[in-house]
This record gives sequence, structure tokens and C-alpha cells, in this order.
Amino acid sequence: MGALDEGHFNLELENDGKNGSMEVAFEHQPETLSIQEAVRVLLQGLGEDINREGIKKTPFRVAKALREGTRGYKLKVKDFVQSALFPEAGLDEGVGQAGGVGGLVVVRDLDHYSYCESCLLPFQVRCHVGYVPSGQRVLGLSKFSRVADVFAKRLQDPQHLADDICSALQQWVKPSGVAVVLQCSHIHFPSLEMNFLASSHHGFVKLLVSSGSGAFEDERSDLWGEFLSLLRFKGVKTHNLCRNGSVKEWCPSVKSSSKFSPADPEMVSAVNSILKSLGEDPSRKELVGTPTRFLKWMMNFQNANLEMKLGGFGYDKTDTKSNGEIEETLHCERNLPFWSMCEHHLLPFYGVVHIGYFCSDGYNPMGKSLVQSVVHFFGFKLQVQERMTRQIAETLSPLVGGDIIVVAEAGHTCMISRGIEKFGSSTATIAVLGRFSTDISARTKFLDSIQNSS
Ligand SMILES: [Zn+2]
Ligand SMILES: [Zn+2]
Repeated sequence: MGALDEGHFNLELENDGKNGSMEVAFEHQPETLSIQEAVRVLLQGLGEDINREGIKKTPFRVAKALREGTRGYKLKVKDFVQSALFPEAGLDEGVGQAGGVGGLVVVRDLDHYSYCESCLLPFQVRCHVGYVPSGQRVLGLSKFSRVADVFAKRLQDPQHLADDICSALQQWVKPSGVAVVLQCSHIHFPSLEMNFLASSHHGFVKLLVSSGSGAFEDERSDLWGEFLSLLRFKGVKTHNLCRNGSVKEWCPSVKSSSKFSPADPEMVSAVNSILKSLGEDPSRKELVGTPTRFLKWMMNFQNANLEMKLGGFGYDKTDTKSNGEIEETLHCERNLPFWSMCEHHLLPFYGVVHIGYFCSDGYNPMGKSLVQSVVHFFGFKLQVQERMTRQIAETLSPLVGGDIIVVAEAGHTCMISRGIEKFGSSTATIAVLGRFSTDISARTKFLDSIQNSS
């Protein structure tokens, strides 16, 4: 949590100098207030107490994150580009192309995030731009990222985003041609009906899309070939590229057809009011099913009281133990997937849990399905990773006589969206009970075993 997290700041956007006299603080702006009100409705729909300490400020945090994350609606490409077009003559002599008249320029690996217009979850975007200057004019290199940001910070779909970036650069820079390639990653959706023990549902849905204009209009041109080979050079798997028109639906919320009880109308209208506050039109064709899909995702984290039948598994103490054989076994369950929702930002975090334990005298090893269901139980709610780790340890430890270690490894969506943008970061948390809290060699043995398993 940095300085970004709390406190006062103004969105500079509202103020383009014309009506700038009355600057309303961000937290008092009507859009902010109305998103907060809607988030309270959603939290109550999840069965949460909105005055609980951990989530008291969540409506404000969510409002801030969403408004920041969709600030692109109010940004203008012109403002970034106009002052950054530099005169640059082409080749002085000889035959060829370079500089301001011809010669391919490629800017790669611009990391952004955007919001999926089908489900409202953030997705990651790695943007690559190629262009061929003309008119003895080049664009300052940092501006490509700025222009991408104008369109990424909206509710988007990958192909649309690529087209937006491409045509804006074509319009404002007026080069011979522009090509854009985007690598997009969207998280998978959990659903309670899913078979979780098949961990194949982890990771990301990936999509590679492109857009070209001017000299790049022909996808089979040599110019495209050169651009793509300069991307392959950086590890982009260009053979997966979806050419314009061949792009399929990618958001997992649209694909998953599993049955879903109709969403609460009050929650649907809360999501619609959020869309309006962000400057969107909820009746736009692409957004019509979005509130329902978003709620379907969200209701996975309802504050439910699942009956956990711990007694049915491994809890039966056996008082016979083979005589005197004290060959102690470190039992491990590794890479158990989990899904959770950060209660501070209402954004997903997900990853795997590793569990190690010793069975005390008279206890039996726990079954994998028991352990997995406990992990899911504490995952599927509004959570913080540290608490989830502790709760899993505390719940399982009595089943084995007390000695347990739990490690959770997760990626947090709130680390990439919300302006923090720590791409690729991950968080590990650890809880140790009983013997593991004092026995360093037992801990080391377990941690080494995780390393070898992954
Ligand atoms: Zn989506
Ligand atoms: Zn968070």
C-alpha cells in the first residue's frame, strides 16, 4: 500500500482549463459518490457487513481504482502527440530508407492493463507498435505508450483496442503506415461446479491480435514480415496471431455456459450505475450482458456458510500405532489451486497453496480432497491472503495433531490494475503451527520440497 492508497487527490482530467475554477475534490465528485453507493449494494448482496473494519473503505477504494482505470475516456490523443512530433530528415545520400522518411521503427513491450468489457475484470496488455515515418517527422518514443494508455484505460476488447491505437497514431502522426500487435491475458473464471482438482483451469486465456493501416494494410506485405520478425526476436510467438476478422470470443465469462440463477435486480442496477459513472453507456450492445456476467463472477465469493464435514475425513483418531516405529513422515499436499477476492479492492487474487504436516500419534494423513475443499472454503470469500493462509492452517491443524505449515503463493490483480502496475509480481505468505514454528530443519525440508515440485 503506497501513497496512492488513501488520501486526497484530484483527477486532473475534468479540468481542461476552460471551466477550471471550481475544482471538486475527487471524493466529493458525483461519479465517485455514486460508484461508492453501488459498491455498498454489491457488498451487501454478497452478505457482507459493510461496516466491518476490513471493508469499510472498500467502496472508496473501488471507486478510485475504477475511475483511475478508465480515465482514458477523458484523455485526448492530441494532447500527447502534438507537442512530441520532431522534425527528422531522412537519408541524405545513397539509396534506401531511414529516419523521417521511411525505415521501420518498432517500439516493443509496452505493458498496460485494460478492463474487459464483457466481465469488467482487468486484463493485461503487452503492446508492440511498428511504424514507418514520413514527412520528415518522428514521434517521441515515450508517446506510444501514452497513446496506448488513452485507449487501454477504458472498457475494451483486444481487437478493438488494437484498432483504436492504430488509427489514432495514423491520424495524428500521419506516417506511411502503422502496425499494432497486442498480447492480451485474461484470467480464467472459477465456478463452483468446475473440477478444481484438475488445475488446468489456472493461468490465463491468451490472445494475440493485430491491426495495421497505410503501408501495413496488407497483412502479407514484406513490411509486416519485418515487423513480426522483430517481435519474434523478443520472444513473441507470432504464429498465434489472430488476423483481423478471425478473432474469436475470448472472455471466459462469455464462454462458460453453466447455469446461473438470475442475478439480483438491485445488484444489476448497481453495476449499471457504475458503468454510467465511468462514462459508459450501459445499453451499448457489447455491455448489455456485462452486469450479469460480472455478478456471476462475483457471487462465487458470497459470504456463505458451507457445511464443512471435516468429521467425515481423517478426523478419526486411531489409537493403535505400529509399535515403536518412529519413522516420521513429512506429509505434503502441493499446488492446490485457489481463487479469492481481495476485500480491499474487490479484485481477484489466485494461485496455489502448499501444505506440509506431521501426523501426531494416533492421527491419520488427511485426504487430498479434504484439504482442497478447506482451501476452497477459505478462498471463496472476500479475503486477504495473510488471513486465508492462517485460517487454512488453523482449521487443518487439529486434524493432524497440531504440526502444520501452509504456504500460499498468489498473483494479485490489484497489483497490476489501479495504477500500481507491478506486472508479474507475486506474493507468498506462510503460516506455521506447532513444531514447524520452532523446528527450522522441518520448515526447510518442506520449503525445499515445494521448490522441487514446481
Ligand atoms: Zn472478461
Ligand atoms: Zn487488493
